[in-house]
Amino acid sequence: AFDVLVVGGGPAGAAAAVYAARKGIRTGVAAERFGGQVLDTMAIENFISVPYTEGPKLAAALEQHVHEYDVDVMNLQRATALVPATEPGGLIEVRLAGADGKPGASLKSRSVILSTGARWRQMGVPGEDEYRNKGVAYCPHCDGPLFKGKRVAVIGGGNSGVEAAIDLAGIVRHVTLIEFDGRLRADEVLQRKLRSLPNVDVIVSAQTTEVIGDGKRVAGLLYKDRDSGQLHRLELEGVFVQIGLLPNTEWLKGTVELSPRGEIVVDDRGQTSVPGVFAAGDATTVPYKQIVIAMGAGSTAALSAFDHLIRTSVP
Ligand code: FAD
Repeated sequence: AFDVLVVGGGPAGAAAAVYAARKGIRTGVAAERFGGQVLDTMAIENFISVPYTEGPKLAAALEQHVHEYDVDVMNLQRATALVPATEPGGLIEVRLAGADGKPGASLKSRSVILSTGARWRQMGVPGEDEYRNKGVAYCPHCDGPLFKGKRVAVIGGGNSGVEAAIDLAGIVRHVTLIEFDGRLRADEVLQRKLRSLPNVDVIVSAQTTEVIGDGKRVAGLLYKDRDSGQLHRLELEGVFVQIGLLPNTEWLKGTVELSPRGEIVVDDRGQTSVPGVFAAGDATTVPYKQIVIAMGAGSTAALSAFDHLIRTSVP
Protein backbone atom coordinates (compact mmCIF):
# COMPACT_ATOMS: atom_id res chain seq x y z
CA ALA A 1 0.00 0.00 0.00
CA PHE A 2 1.01 3.62 -0.54
CA ASP A 3 1.35 6.27 2.14
CA VAL A 4 0.14 8.92 -0.30
CA LEU A 5 -1.71 8.13 -3.51
CA VAL A 6 -2.25 11.11 -5.82
CA VAL A 7 -5.09 10.80 -8.34
CA GLY A 8 -4.47 13.15 -11.29
CA GLY A 9 -1.22 14.19 -12.92
CA GLY A 10 -1.62 17.89 -13.75
CA PRO A 11 0.26 20.73 -12.00
CA ALA A 12 -1.56 20.05 -8.69
CA GLY A 13 -0.86 16.30 -8.76
CA ALA A 14 2.78 16.73 -9.82
CA ALA A 15 3.43 19.24 -7.02
CA ALA A 16 1.71 16.96 -4.49
CA ALA A 17 3.82 13.99 -5.62
CA VAL A 18 7.10 15.91 -5.34
CA TYR A 19 6.23 17.28 -1.89
CA ALA A 20 5.11 13.86 -0.62
CA ALA A 21 8.10 11.98 -2.05
CA ARG A 22 10.49 14.45 -0.44
CA LYS A 23 9.19 13.23 2.94
CA GLY A 24 10.55 9.78 2.09
CA ILE A 25 7.12 8.14 2.12
CA ARG A 26 5.67 5.66 -0.40
CA THR A 27 4.10 7.86 -3.07
CA GLY A 28 2.10 6.93 -6.16
CA VAL A 29 0.38 8.93 -8.89
CA ALA A 30 -2.44 7.51 -11.00
CA ALA A 31 -3.37 9.78 -13.91
CA GLU A 32 -5.57 9.41 -16.93
CA ARG A 33 -3.26 11.72 -18.89
CA PHE A 34 -0.11 12.93 -17.12
CA GLY A 35 0.28 16.69 -17.75
CA GLY A 36 -3.44 17.49 -17.60
CA GLN A 37 -4.79 20.68 -19.16
CA VAL A 38 -1.26 21.97 -19.59
CA LEU A 39 -0.92 19.55 -22.52
CA ASP A 40 -3.66 21.48 -24.35
CA THR A 41 -2.08 24.88 -23.78
CA MET A 42 0.19 26.75 -26.15
CA ALA A 43 1.80 29.91 -24.79
CA ILE A 44 2.13 30.18 -21.01
CA GLU A 45 3.32 33.62 -19.88
CA ASN A 46 2.24 33.70 -16.23
CA PHE A 47 4.25 30.84 -14.77
CA ILE A 48 6.22 33.10 -12.47
CA SER A 49 10.00 33.16 -13.04
CA VAL A 50 9.55 31.62 -16.51
CA PRO A 51 8.47 34.51 -18.77
CA TYR A 52 7.48 32.22 -21.63
CA THR A 53 6.95 28.50 -22.02
CA GLU A 54 4.63 26.18 -23.90
CA GLY A 55 2.24 23.60 -22.49
CA PRO A 56 3.85 20.40 -23.78
CA LYS A 57 7.26 21.65 -22.58
CA LEU A 58 5.95 22.42 -19.09
CA ALA A 59 4.12 19.07 -18.96
CA ALA A 60 7.36 17.24 -19.83
CA ALA A 61 9.17 19.21 -17.12
CA LEU A 62 6.49 18.29 -14.57
CA GLU A 63 6.92 14.62 -15.38
CA GLN A 64 10.70 14.84 -15.28
CA HIS A 65 10.65 16.54 -11.87
CA VAL A 66 8.36 13.83 -10.46
CA HIS A 67 10.69 11.13 -11.86
CA GLU A 68 13.61 12.68 -9.94
CA TYR A 69 12.03 10.99 -6.92
CA ASP A 70 10.97 7.50 -6.09
CA VAL A 71 7.37 7.95 -7.22
CA ASP A 72 5.32 5.16 -8.77
CA VAL A 73 3.74 6.92 -11.78
CA MET A 74 0.80 5.03 -13.25
CA ASN A 75 -0.13 6.92 -16.42
CA LEU A 76 -3.24 6.22 -18.53
CA GLN A 77 -5.18 5.06 -15.47
CA ARG A 78 -8.64 6.41 -14.78
CA ALA A 79 -10.03 6.24 -11.28
CA THR A 80 -13.68 5.21 -11.08
CA ALA A 81 -14.37 5.00 -7.34
CA LEU A 82 -13.02 6.01 -3.96
CA VAL A 83 -13.73 3.77 -0.99
CA PRO A 84 -13.06 5.47 2.37
CA ALA A 85 -11.24 3.60 5.16
CA THR A 86 -13.47 1.51 7.38
CA GLU A 87 -11.64 2.57 10.54
CA PRO A 88 -9.63 5.67 11.52
CA GLY A 89 -6.13 5.41 10.02
CA GLY A 90 -7.18 2.47 7.84
CA LEU A 91 -6.52 2.02 4.15
CA ILE A 92 -8.40 4.01 1.53
CA GLU A 93 -9.10 2.29 -1.78
CA VAL A 94 -9.06 3.81 -5.26
CA ARG A 95 -10.57 1.65 -8.00
CA LEU A 96 -9.31 2.00 -11.56
CA ALA A 97 -11.14 1.44 -14.84
CA GLY A 98 -10.25 -1.82 -16.53
CA ALA A 99 -9.92 -2.53 -20.22
CA ASP A 100 -13.10 -3.23 -22.28
CA GLY A 101 -15.44 -2.34 -19.45
CA LYS A 102 -14.04 -5.04 -17.15
CA PRO A 103 -13.32 -4.07 -13.53
CA GLY A 104 -9.76 -2.82 -13.19
CA ALA A 105 -7.12 -2.90 -10.50
CA SER A 106 -7.56 -1.35 -7.11
CA LEU A 107 -4.94 0.69 -5.26
CA LYS A 108 -4.73 1.11 -1.49
CA SER A 109 -3.22 3.98 0.42
CA ARG A 110 -3.12 5.50 3.90
CA SER A 111 -3.94 8.90 2.42
CA VAL A 112 -5.22 10.11 -0.95
CA ILE A 113 -4.87 13.43 -2.77
CA LEU A 114 -7.53 14.12 -5.39
CA SER A 115 -6.29 16.40 -8.18
CA THR A 116 -8.37 15.41 -11.19
CA GLY A 117 -8.71 18.95 -12.54
CA ALA A 118 -11.46 20.31 -14.71
CA ARG A 119 -12.43 20.89 -18.34
CA TRP A 120 -13.97 23.93 -20.01
CA ARG A 121 -17.46 23.45 -21.38
CA GLN A 122 -17.28 23.85 -25.14
CA MET A 123 -19.81 25.45 -27.49
CA GLY A 124 -19.69 22.47 -29.83
CA VAL A 125 -19.93 24.56 -33.00
CA PRO A 126 -17.94 24.22 -36.23
CA GLY A 127 -14.55 25.95 -36.06
CA GLU A 128 -14.24 25.81 -32.26
CA ASP A 129 -11.87 22.83 -32.18
CA GLU A 130 -10.09 23.79 -35.38
CA TYR A 131 -9.14 27.23 -34.06
CA ARG A 132 -8.51 26.28 -30.41
CA ASN A 133 -5.32 28.14 -29.37
CA LYS A 134 -5.52 29.96 -32.73
CA GLY A 135 -7.96 32.57 -31.54
CA VAL A 136 -10.41 30.39 -29.59
CA ALA A 137 -9.49 30.69 -25.89
CA TYR A 138 -11.00 29.72 -22.57
CA CYS A 139 -8.94 31.57 -19.98
CA PRO A 140 -8.85 35.40 -19.96
CA HIS A 141 -6.17 35.54 -17.22
CA CYS A 142 -3.97 33.35 -19.40
CA ASP A 143 -4.60 34.51 -22.94
CA GLY A 144 -6.04 38.03 -22.61
CA PRO A 145 -2.72 39.83 -23.26
CA LEU A 146 -2.26 37.86 -26.51
CA PHE A 147 -5.20 39.87 -27.93
CA LYS A 148 -3.90 43.33 -27.06
CA GLY A 149 -5.32 45.90 -29.49
CA LYS A 150 -7.55 43.28 -31.19
CA ARG A 151 -11.30 42.60 -31.31
CA VAL A 152 -12.72 39.68 -29.34
CA ALA A 153 -16.04 38.13 -28.40
CA VAL A 154 -16.88 36.63 -25.03
CA ILE A 155 -19.45 33.85 -25.17
CA GLY A 156 -21.59 33.65 -22.02
CA GLY A 157 -23.29 36.26 -19.87
CA GLY A 158 -22.95 34.65 -16.45
CA ASN A 159 -20.54 35.97 -13.83
CA SER A 160 -17.46 34.45 -15.47
CA GLY A 161 -18.40 35.79 -18.93
CA VAL A 162 -19.08 39.31 -17.68
CA GLU A 163 -15.93 39.31 -15.51
CA ALA A 164 -13.96 38.17 -18.55
CA ALA A 165 -15.47 40.94 -20.71
CA ILE A 166 -14.61 43.61 -18.10
CA ASP A 167 -11.07 42.22 -17.75
CA LEU A 168 -10.53 42.00 -21.53
CA ALA A 169 -11.98 45.48 -22.19
CA GLY A 170 -8.93 46.90 -20.40
CA ILE A 171 -6.54 45.08 -22.74
CA VAL A 172 -8.13 44.58 -26.15
CA ARG A 173 -9.58 47.10 -28.61
CA HIS A 174 -13.18 45.91 -28.53
CA VAL A 175 -15.28 43.24 -26.79
CA THR A 176 -18.63 41.84 -27.89
CA LEU A 177 -20.36 39.84 -25.20
CA ILE A 178 -22.78 37.25 -26.57
CA GLU A 179 -25.49 35.71 -24.39
CA PHE A 180 -27.86 32.95 -25.49
CA ASP A 181 -30.62 33.96 -23.07
CA GLY A 182 -32.75 37.10 -23.30
CA ARG A 183 -30.79 38.71 -20.44
CA LEU A 184 -27.44 38.49 -18.69
CA ARG A 185 -27.30 36.30 -15.60
CA ALA A 186 -24.30 37.98 -13.97
CA ASP A 187 -24.56 39.93 -10.70
CA GLU A 188 -26.09 43.39 -11.15
CA VAL A 189 -22.93 45.18 -9.98
CA LEU A 190 -20.90 43.43 -12.69
CA GLN A 191 -23.49 44.24 -15.35
CA ARG A 192 -23.41 47.92 -14.35
CA LYS A 193 -19.63 47.98 -14.62
CA LEU A 194 -19.82 46.25 -18.00
CA ARG A 195 -22.34 48.74 -19.39
CA SER A 196 -20.15 51.68 -18.29
CA LEU A 197 -17.31 50.55 -20.55
CA PRO A 198 -17.04 52.38 -23.88
CA ASN A 199 -15.52 49.51 -25.89
CA VAL A 200 -18.02 46.76 -25.02
CA ASP A 201 -21.19 45.72 -26.89
CA VAL A 202 -23.66 43.27 -25.40
CA ILE A 203 -25.84 41.08 -27.62
CA VAL A 204 -28.53 38.95 -25.98
CA SER A 205 -30.78 36.21 -27.42
CA ALA A 206 -27.91 35.24 -29.67
CA GLN A 207 -26.77 31.73 -30.48
CA THR A 208 -23.23 31.32 -31.73
CA THR A 209 -23.35 28.96 -34.69
CA GLU A 210 -19.81 28.97 -36.10
CA VAL A 211 -16.28 30.22 -35.55
CA ILE A 212 -14.87 31.38 -38.85
CA GLY A 213 -11.19 31.45 -39.74
CA ASP A 214 -8.80 31.91 -42.61
CA GLY A 215 -7.32 28.43 -42.18
CA LYS A 216 -4.69 29.72 -39.75
CA ARG A 217 -6.48 31.95 -37.25
CA VAL A 218 -9.91 33.12 -36.17
CA ALA A 219 -11.37 35.81 -38.42
CA GLY A 220 -14.95 36.07 -37.19
CA LEU A 221 -18.02 34.57 -35.67
CA LEU A 222 -21.50 33.71 -36.92
CA TYR A 223 -24.47 34.03 -34.60
CA LYS A 224 -28.20 33.64 -34.99
CA ASP A 225 -30.57 36.22 -33.55
CA ARG A 226 -32.93 33.89 -31.66
CA ASP A 227 -35.87 36.30 -31.99
CA SER A 228 -35.71 36.98 -35.72
CA GLY A 229 -33.83 33.83 -36.78
CA GLN A 230 -31.42 36.01 -38.80
CA LEU A 231 -27.75 35.12 -39.10
CA HIS A 232 -25.13 37.80 -38.39
CA ARG A 233 -21.39 37.88 -38.85
CA LEU A 234 -18.90 39.62 -36.54
CA GLU A 235 -15.36 40.34 -37.69
CA LEU A 236 -12.90 39.69 -34.87
CA GLU A 237 -9.63 38.00 -33.95
CA GLY A 238 -10.51 36.16 -30.73
CA VAL A 239 -13.33 34.21 -29.08
CA PHE A 240 -13.32 33.59 -25.31
CA VAL A 241 -15.71 30.80 -24.37
CA GLN A 242 -17.06 31.30 -20.83
CA ILE A 243 -19.95 28.88 -20.50
CA GLY A 244 -18.67 26.85 -17.58
CA LEU A 245 -15.77 24.94 -16.08
CA LEU A 246 -16.68 21.33 -15.29
CA PRO A 247 -14.69 19.63 -12.53
CA ASN A 248 -13.67 16.00 -13.18
CA THR A 249 -15.42 14.76 -10.05
CA GLU A 250 -18.37 12.74 -11.37
CA TRP A 251 -16.72 9.59 -9.96
CA LEU A 252 -16.72 11.05 -6.42
CA LYS A 253 -20.43 11.87 -6.18
CA GLY A 254 -21.92 10.47 -3.00
CA THR A 255 -18.51 9.76 -1.40
CA VAL A 256 -16.84 13.16 -1.01
CA GLU A 257 -18.71 16.40 -0.33
CA LEU A 258 -19.04 18.40 -3.56
CA SER A 259 -20.25 21.98 -4.05
CA PRO A 260 -23.38 22.61 -6.16
CA ARG A 261 -20.99 23.09 -9.11
CA GLY A 262 -19.43 19.69 -8.49
CA GLU A 263 -16.19 21.03 -7.00
CA ILE A 264 -14.59 19.07 -4.15
CA VAL A 265 -15.15 21.08 -0.97
CA VAL A 266 -11.78 21.67 0.76
CA ASP A 267 -10.65 23.73 3.72
CA ASP A 268 -7.53 25.88 3.70
CA ARG A 269 -5.37 22.78 4.32
CA GLY A 270 -6.86 20.90 1.39
CA GLN A 271 -8.83 18.54 3.67
CA THR A 272 -12.01 17.05 2.13
CA SER A 273 -15.04 15.68 3.98
CA VAL A 274 -13.41 12.21 4.11
CA PRO A 275 -10.66 11.60 6.72
CA GLY A 276 -7.25 11.06 5.09
CA VAL A 277 -8.49 12.34 1.73
CA PHE A 278 -7.18 15.70 0.55
CA ALA A 279 -7.70 17.58 -2.71
CA ALA A 280 -6.06 20.31 -4.75
CA GLY A 281 -6.31 22.32 -7.95
CA ASP A 282 -9.08 22.98 -10.45
CA ALA A 283 -11.21 20.08 -9.17
CA THR A 284 -11.75 21.87 -5.85
CA THR A 285 -13.53 24.93 -4.47
CA VAL A 286 -10.25 26.90 -4.58
CA PRO A 287 -10.87 30.34 -6.07
CA TYR A 288 -9.12 31.01 -9.43
CA LYS A 289 -8.03 28.12 -11.60
CA GLN A 290 -4.41 28.66 -12.61
CA ILE A 291 -1.20 26.62 -12.85
CA VAL A 292 0.69 28.35 -10.03
CA ILE A 293 -2.39 28.19 -7.80
CA ALA A 294 -2.87 24.47 -8.51
CA MET A 295 0.80 23.81 -7.72
CA GLY A 296 0.57 25.70 -4.43
CA ALA A 297 -2.59 23.80 -3.50
CA GLY A 298 -0.98 20.46 -4.43
CA SER A 299 1.94 21.24 -2.13
CA THR A 300 -0.45 22.21 0.68
CA ALA A 301 -2.41 18.97 0.24
CA ALA A 302 0.78 16.86 0.36
CA LEU A 303 2.00 18.55 3.54
CA SER A 304 -1.46 18.08 5.09
CA ALA A 305 -1.45 14.40 4.09
CA PHE A 306 1.97 13.98 5.72
CA ASP A 307 0.69 15.72 8.84
CA HIS A 308 -2.28 13.32 8.85
CA LEU A 309 0.05 10.30 8.52
CA ILE A 310 2.25 11.22 11.46
CA ARG A 311 -0.85 11.66 13.62
CA THR A 312 -2.57 8.38 12.76
CA SER A 313 -1.05 5.18 14.08
CA VAL A 314 0.11 2.57 11.56
CA PRO A 315 -2.56 -0.15 11.49
P1 FAD B 1 -5.47 19.42 -14.65
O1 FAD B 1 -4.38 20.15 -15.33
O2 FAD B 1 -6.83 19.46 -15.26
O3 FAD B 1 -5.03 17.92 -14.44
C1 FAD B 1 -5.93 16.93 -14.02
C2 FAD B 1 -5.28 15.57 -14.06
O4 FAD B 1 -6.18 14.59 -13.56
C3 FAD B 1 -4.89 15.08 -15.45
O5 FAD B 1 -3.72 14.29 -15.36
C4 FAD B 1 -6.09 14.20 -15.83
O6 FAD B 1 -5.79 13.25 -16.84
C5 FAD B 1 -6.35 13.54 -14.52
N1 FAD B 1 -7.67 12.95 -14.30
C6 FAD B 1 -8.90 13.48 -14.51
N2 FAD B 1 -9.86 12.62 -14.14
C7 FAD B 1 -9.23 11.50 -13.69
C8 FAD B 1 -9.66 10.25 -13.15
N3 FAD B 1 -10.96 9.94 -12.98
N4 FAD B 1 -8.71 9.34 -12.80
C9 FAD B 1 -7.38 9.60 -12.95
N5 FAD B 1 -6.92 10.78 -13.45
C10 FAD B 1 -7.84 11.71 -13.80
N6 FAD B 1 -3.25 28.40 -16.41
C11 FAD B 1 -2.23 29.29 -16.23
O7 FAD B 1 -1.82 29.51 -15.09
N7 FAD B 1 -1.65 29.89 -17.31
C12 FAD B 1 -2.04 29.67 -18.60
O8 FAD B 1 -1.50 30.26 -19.54
C13 FAD B 1 -3.11 28.73 -18.80
N8 FAD B 1 -3.58 28.51 -20.05
C14 FAD B 1 -4.56 27.57 -20.23
C15 FAD B 1 -4.98 27.28 -21.54
C16 FAD B 1 -5.92 26.32 -21.77
C17 FAD B 1 -6.33 26.01 -23.19
C18 FAD B 1 -6.51 25.62 -20.66
C19 FAD B 1 -7.54 24.54 -20.89
C20 FAD B 1 -6.13 25.93 -19.36
C21 FAD B 1 -5.16 26.90 -19.12
N9 FAD B 1 -4.73 27.24 -17.84
C22 FAD B 1 -3.69 28.11 -17.66
C23 FAD B 1 -5.34 26.62 -16.64
C24 FAD B 1 -4.44 25.52 -16.08
O9 FAD B 1 -4.11 24.63 -17.13
C25 FAD B 1 -5.13 24.79 -14.94
O10 FAD B 1 -5.48 25.71 -13.93
C26 FAD B 1 -4.25 23.71 -14.34
O11 FAD B 1 -3.80 22.79 -15.31
C27 FAD B 1 -4.98 22.96 -13.23
O12 FAD B 1 -4.18 21.94 -12.74
P2 FAD B 1 -4.80 20.65 -12.05
O13 FAD B 1 -3.63 19.80 -11.72
O14 FAD B 1 -5.72 21.06 -10.96
O15 FAD B 1 -5.73 19.95 -13.13
